[in-house]
Amino acid sequence: MKDAIDHTNLLAPPTGDVNLRDFDPAFTAGIASKHDAERKLSADIERLATLQNVFYADRRHALLVIFQGMDTAGKDGAIRHVMSGVSPQGIDVYPFAVPSAMELSHDYLWRCAKVLPERGRIAIFNRSYYEELVVVRVNEAALAREELPPKPTGAKLWQERYEDIVAFERHLIRNGTLVVKFFLHVSKDEQRKRLLERIDLPEKNWKLSAADLHDRLSWDAYQGAYELLLANTSTESSPWYVIPADHKWFTRAAVADVLVARLEGLGLAYPKLSDDGRRQMVDERKALAIS
Ligand code: ADP
Repeated sequence: MKDAIDHTNLLAPPTGDVNLRDFDPAFTAGIASKHDAERKLSADIERLATLQNVFYADRRHALLVIFQGMDTAGKDGAIRHVMSGVSPQGIDVYPFAVPSAMELSHDYLWRCAKVLPERGRIAIFNRSYYEELVVVRVNEAALAREELPPKPTGAKLWQERYEDIVAFERHLIRNGTLVVKFFLHVSKDEQRKRLLERIDLPEKNWKLSAADLHDRLSWDAYQGAYELLLANTSTESSPWYVIPADHKWFTRAAVADVLVARLEGLGLAYPKLSDDGRRQMVDERKALAIS
């Protein structure tokens, strides 16, 4: 069984163009089988549970994990499996769907900004402000609903959004938030299979929405918008991981592997007692032992 996945194969380069055709959605990084991937995932789920404990005690960082991807790419399943060992007390999952009237009356970062994690806690965004560079870019009606000032429009508008999002994340990172971004990269063929399952299997019917089929018609436009998003918002401190998503078992193993590595990279530690604190604890121990 392979121990770790080479993340360089998954990273969207912080500078330069991104062509999604360079990323194989069926890639498995040398993990030979579903069985091997599941064994690795189980080990990483346990490591995440331990890391979360020290992360909570350390209280110097927050963790924001962002999931993006086409419908059926496996965002929900990845979140459910990878986070299955983490204490529910330390984590919140926020799905972001079509904005409400109230949300549209604010700037587009607002609804995400107001649920950012505090230090010691994890927030998972199932979709995020990145929809503003994808669905809103592909669907003119979605942009029209935002009732923005008349300028800028066109390329300048998107450029400003890239810049603002990069600046927003830089601010979060400078203040102690670790931002980890996953683009789950599913192929068009695999999406067809998964959508057909949603139609054919009664227990999956509830998962199908008309929007899924509608968005598939604009597949190329979505891929293009994602390529621009990845090229413009993958930075050294907040890179995008392009996670192959045709094999769900690999997606989950890769997401867990990246999260373990990024949390380990924080150099987390349990807080150390001061000399006074230590002396007080020794006294308390003595008192407790004879009480
Ligand atoms: P999911 O498809 O993730 O299971 P839902 O069907 O409830 O969840 O809603 C997601 C839908 O909301 C997607 O079609 C997505 O593109 C859309 N959406 C998310 N954010 C925005 C946004 N800012 N503007 C317009 N549509 C959005």
